[in-house]
Amino acid sequence: MPRKAQGTQASPVAYFSMEVALDSAMPTYSGGLGVLAGDLLRAAADAGMAMVGVTLLYRKGYFRQHLDAQGKQSESPAAWSPEPLLQPMAPRVQVSLEGRPVTIRAWRSLMRGVSGGTVPVYFLDTALPENSPWDQAITDHLYGGDDRYRLCQETVLGMGGVAMLRALGYERVQAFHMNEGHSALLGLALLEEQTWGRGLASATPEDVETVRQRCVFTTHTPVRAAHDRFPLSIATQVLGRERVNALLAAGCCDNSSLDMTYLALSLSRYINGVAMLHRATSAALFPDFPINAITNGVHAVTWTSYPFRRLYDRHIPDWRLDNRYLRHAVGIPVEQIQEAHAAAKGELLTEVSRRTGTRLDPSALTLGFARRATAYKRHDLLLSDPERLRRIARQQGPLQVVYGGKAHPRDEEGKAMIQRVFQAAAALRDAVRFVYVEDYDMAIAQYLCAGVDLWLNTPQKYQEASGTSGMKAALNGVPSLSVLDGWWVEGRVEGVTGWAIGDDHPSDTPPDRETASLYDKLEYVILPMFTSRPLAFAQVMRSAIALNGSFFNAQRMVHQYAERAYAPNTKLARPQ
Ligand SMILES: *Cc1c(COP(=O)(O)O)cnc(C)c1O
Repeated sequence: MPRKAQGTQASPVAYFSMEVALDSAMPTYSGGLGVLAGDLLRAAADAGMAMVGVTLLYRKGYFRQHLDAQGKQSESPAAWSPEPLLQPMAPRVQVSLEGRPVTIRAWRSLMRGVSGGTVPVYFLDTALPENSPWDQAITDHLYGGDDRYRLCQETVLGMGGVAMLRALGYERVQAFHMNEGHSALLGLALLEEQTWGRGLASATPEDVETVRQRCVFTTHTPVRAAHDRFPLSIATQVLGRERVNALLAAGCCDNSSLDMTYLALSLSRYINGVAMLHRATSAALFPDFPINAITNGVHAVTWTSYPFRRLYDRHIPDWRLDNRYLRHAVGIPVEQIQEAHAAAKGELLTEVSRRTGTRLDPSALTLGFARRATAYKRHDLLLSDPERLRRIARQQGPLQVVYGGKAHPRDEEGKAMIQRVFQAAAALRDAVRFVYVEDYDMAIAQYLCAGVDLWLNTPQKYQEASGTSGMKAALNGVPSLSVLDGWWVEGRVEGVTGWAIGDDHPSDTPPDRETASLYDKLEYVILPMFTSRPLAFAQVMRSAIALNGSFFNAQRMVHQYAERAYAPNTKLARPQ
């Protein structure tokens, strides 16, 4: 990918995402999807790529999580002010929602890359006095509200986003990249531009094809029921009959719903899943579309703790510019890996004690488990046989666990799962120390992924598209113990970069076999190595950096997007 200096005429890629995580002071994200978007934009700035990001402002954020002594979650708004953090932009644009004009403004964050490149990210905002109070609140809450509210948000993102880019002077855009289906209405905005002056109703298959040639879609959701979909009645109410008819005529929705994934699939020339296994799962879900794979990665410098940054700066001075050099971590003496890790662990334990008052044992094997608390992630799988876990901790321990993760306010199952973790933790108090850190966010993730000894990941197989927190851990020499789903199918070399839970073969491992495998690995492989063969354990840490840190990073990912997805005439996968 040639470097393009700022100020040249290179037309940018416009990257649209419902959530973008840039900074924990801006609660504009709920989890992995937003963190991935932020990491991709940071990596594009590092590479000097021409790119702009588009998302919504969310003045009330996602939410703050509070947990009582029983683990019962309550929420409060995470209100914040854009003024000190973002730059207000002058243009105002309008979208029509339910037949009335809604005015939108934008706030800009300028991401600065390692080599001087910059990527602007625009946060769209409807809190303007010319809008009604309801319309002013459209960009208040991430994933809050009902279908009508959500579709209004997605219209502001997709259609308002295109209008805002034009008003900001982005006339030529190399590719419109939809990160998940939420922004798929950008295709409708492009179709309106295409049929400008003659009316949307006149759109021909050639017009649709012209739009398709400019769009790229990344799907992140391997479970069909979890896809974003609106009843046609709501779509007609929000968008108006003419637009819905145009989408129907273009074959972009069926007669019962506006399915944002289907719309994005129909309007994209390049489509990808976010790991090899996820490509296969997506190909089975959408047999009519060619699905490619670009495996996710994390922004290496952002997710590497200070002790490891210093270590890499000493041994691998070019690692920031080119993350591939992290392969040379194989040459770092293991004692220095252990030292850097001890420092990162110390920082985590200090932070845990500051936040929760709990003092953890720096010598105990410390497991980390933190991610959105939703059923398929199975925070409680580790606790499914408390007697066995107690025995393991007593005989092979000591063992302690740091948990984190918020449940969506309406996800009752996710909330119940957090409570089950609290109950099991209380029952095991005599043998295993547990802490559940409230209000998981990027800042805690930085401490946690770097400071634990083992990163645990137990999704229901085939439901984790990629997962990225294990990649953050690998950059800090923290091996994973994980179900073979998502990225771990590619990242796991057994006993070298970490360990698998359950079987290799593609059929599902029954849950009891999975649990047995999890405990077996802990009891017979990991704990004995950690306590009796610390140098062997440190070698696993080092290989996790060399093999996985050097590959599962956002720099590699954004170059793959540039080569395969954004470049014109990219070779496309055939439908399977
Ligand atoms: C990285 C990250 C995630 C993603 O975790 P997964 O392992 O992919 O589920 C979620 N939330 C935060 C705050 C993160 O930093």
